Amino acid sequence: MRTITVLGATGSIGQNTIDVICRHPDKFRVFAITGHTNLNALVQLALQCSPRYIVLSDPQAYTAFAKILKKENCHSEILVGAQALDDVCCAPEVDTVMSAIVGAAGLLPTLAAVRTGKRVLLANKESLVMSGELFMNAVREHKAELVPIDSEHNAIFQCLPHDFEYGNLEKSGITKILLTGSGGPFRTLADESFDSITPDQACDHPTWTMGRKISVDSATMMNKGLEFIEAKWLFGLHEDDIEVVLHPQSTIHSMVQYVDGSIIAQLGNPDMRTSIAYGLSFPDRITSGVEAVDFSSLTDFSFSKPDQNRYPNLYLAIEACKQGQAATTAINAANEVAVDAFLKGQIKFTDIAKVNQHVLQKTDFIELTCIVQVLEHDAEARILAQQIVRKLN
Ligand code: NAD
Ligand code: MG
Repeated sequence: MRTITVLGATGSIGQNTIDVICRHPDKFRVFAITGHTNLNALVQLALQCSPRYIVLSDPQAYTAFAKILKKENCHSEILVGAQALDDVCCAPEVDTVMSAIVGAAGLLPTLAAVRTGKRVLLANKESLVMSGELFMNAVREHKAELVPIDSEHNAIFQCLPHDFEYGNLEKSGITKILLTGSGGPFRTLADESFDSITPDQACDHPTWTMGRKISVDSATMMNKGLEFIEAKWLFGLHEDDIEVVLHPQSTIHSMVQYVDGSIIAQLGNPDMRTSIAYGLSFPDRITSGVEAVDFSSLTDFSFSKPDQNRYPNLYLAIEACKQGQAATTAINAANEVAVDAFLKGQIKFTDIAKVNQHVLQKTDFIELTCIVQVLEHDAEARILAQQIVRKLN
């Protein structure tokens, strides 16, 4: 029996996680769920999985939330605030933490889970992008078990040999990691239409259903850039080991290429419950609610290279990856500010890359040796990004 805390339970990944967990009451129990907004969804989830604790990140929501819980006759205990987020990750009863808060807000609770040696199911790619080496050092030091949930990295994890040694591609005869991406909703949009893209258009992803921030990141392909950095740290890769391949159907979720010419791919329908189920049950397999691919219904199966002019954010993120930790922390922060401003209608879709590029150019290449420095650097990059947003607005 695994006992699980689900960070960001009200989100797309969080709700899919509860869905998979509830399919296997003999294997999993929920210790805590956490949510930031959308209190009604939090109540519904609590009724579905009966957690011992529910954590609200906003203490002001306590009274209203307690009233709804009472009315629904739900007996979970309510905790509030940042410390409570850490506490439900570190509790000795918990062996597995799903890290599914969006953005930099996920870093500290995820690290708390890592530092108490839990199995960490990592959906929150931003925490690894922000703190890569420090994060991976903490994983090793505290013997945490890190299982990637991002579909591409989960695919790579499945395609690597079981005895893969971190960073040692040569030993396993690996020549390349092929990171696939759909190219998002604007892969074939005329160049002159990019300035008038609306938030709802950007969030209407052709193959995946996701939260709004990652949907915009997928449309700009910053998501693939963040995943490039994520892959580097998860598997100990060099930038030259990774190639991004456009694959609009999202059937192949990524591939590993071997020295003998073999390429091993992981395929499946675009539904995150496959990765989530594998993370929960690894090394075993359990049902996830996802149907297998029906090959007779695949009418198209295509691949191409991502165009630099169409997807400047992808290339900015790769550049940041080559520059190092200060650059990836800064571009992640800039991107969060820019995407938020775009979703609020303050800047244009094409301004996101302008904000990211400007912040990257202004970043000092300092060494970040502890998490406090990472957070300070993140905060500075946000201030700079907000200044640019105000100018563009
Ligand atoms: P979402 O927006 O649907 O949900 C985000 C969750 O985080 C919600 O529960 C929200 O309440 C919580 N949250 C937001 N701000 C918070 C804060 N300041 N403090 C505490 N909690 C906060 O997002 P999502 O699509 O589920 O994505 C979650 C993470 O998983 C992201 O890092 C994303 O990149 C990653 N991911 C998502 C998918 C997907 O298919 N949705 C795929 C791969 C990776
Ligand atoms: Mg992904």
